[in-house]
Amino acid sequence: MTTADVLKPDYSSKRKHFIFTEEHDQLRESIRRFAQTELAPHAEEWEETTFPNWVFERMGELGFLGLSYPEEYGGQGGDYYSNLVLAEEIVHANSGGLTMGVAVHTDMATPPIHLFGTEDQKQRYLVPAIKGQKIACLGITEPDAGSDVAGIRTRAVRDGDEFVINGSKTYITNGHRADFIVLVTKTDPDAGYDGFTLFIVDTDTPGFIREKRLEKLGMHASDTALLAFDDMRVPAENILGQEGKGFYHIMWELQGERLIGAAGCVAGAQKCFEKTLEYALERKAFGRSIGHFQVIRHKFAEMATKIESARQMVYTTAWRFQNGEYPVREISMAKLHASRIAVEVADECIQVHGGAGYMKEYGVERVWRDMRLNRIGAGTDEIMLDVIGRSYGL
Ligand SMILES: Cc1cc2nc3c(=O)[nH]c(=O)nc-3n(C[C@H](O)[C@H](O)[C@H](O)COP(=O)(O)OP(=O)(O)OC[C@H]3O[C@@H](n4cnc5c(N)ncnc54)[C@H](O)[C@@H]3O)c2cc1C
Repeated sequence: MTTADVLKPDYSSKRKHFIFTEEHDQLRESIRRFAQTELAPHAEEWEETTFPNWVFERMGELGFLGLSYPEEYGGQGGDYYSNLVLAEEIVHANSGGLTMGVAVHTDMATPPIHLFGTEDQKQRYLVPAIKGQKIACLGITEPDAGSDVAGIRTRAVRDGDEFVINGSKTYITNGHRADFIVLVTKTDPDAGYDGFTLFIVDTDTPGFIREKRLEKLGMHASDTALLAFDDMRVPAENILGQEGKGFYHIMWELQGERLIGAAGCVAGAQKCFEKTLEYALERKAFGRSIGHFQVIRHKFAEMATKIESARQMVYTTAWRFQNGEYPVREISMAKLHASRIAVEVADECIQVHGGAGYMKEYGVERVWRDMRLNRIGAGTDEIMLDVIGRSYGL
């Protein structure tokens, strides 16, 4: 520190956060370039059609679908922070639906195969998923059970070397396009939390039925399915992890899903903030840029502070995760806080845009609609609060 530094302080830190290296920066740059040049130009069109499957193939080719998976399975052998970089930079595709569809594949459906899968399952599902040749989805939620995961009814009954599965799942992202599903079932309804089992099921299995495509408030570029299973026969070798331990396996999966979701919220809020800042400096009212009214300036100050607080929570929690901790309380806090602030920021950005904010053309209303899901998906705000509260023995 010199006298000059004291007289003229930096009003923003220029250094990257200590969890990131030069390699992360290079990765950041290449994902951002890919998102801006190959994805963003189609964002509007994909709101109508959903994004095409070539996105997975292309991302597989570029190595973006297996950033932290071992090289022996076709991954890049990176650390957990590379997944954060993907979550942060893919927002430059300007498509919340695409971001979600990709995250379901990379950070929700495939991590349990990597951690709990047999070698054969890794070769059959993880390797092609990393290449973008097979698309994954994850089936937890049912029409009668969402927050209450233990209340699911999809039943798997053993019959020799096979299981016969009956039931249904709803709101399944990638459900229409997926080649396989990581499916949560009940194998022993009398065993409480020890009565759940995960399966990997090929979606061309007889009895796997894709019901309607669900219409949504936002995330229009993603496909969301209602699925049914009618006497679907699945070989016992497709059990993922330990029979009877599926509940614990899926609770572990949800932690990674929530943390990546939180990182996406922070990045989405930041992008919306920047776009709105540009607008506030250009838009004139009463003879000056609207950004120079104190009221508007303070809105930006509030937004920036919220974004930064959520970012620090995500990075610190990711650091714990990378270093072998499994911090359910902190992950729940990061997920809760980041989802809330993302919606608040998007809402305030609409306000700063005035009437333009309400118009599709400016894209901020879409950010709000897309972000709104985060307070519901992967565990609602209320469930996060409950997990946090219970972690104090309450
Ligand atoms: C677009 C979209 C994509 C999705 N993608 C997937 C996917 O790919 N795979 C998947 O499995 N699921 C997916 N989901 C499902 C999502 O995770 C659930 O919607 C979510 O967990 C909430 O469950 P629910 O909708 O059944 O709400 P409910 O559980 O019915 O909750 C309704 C309300 O009651 C509150 N509530 C419930 N229990 C409690 C409690 N104990 N204490 C206090 N409040 C409570 C909730 O917080 C909420 O406000 C997706 C959902 C959407 C909308």
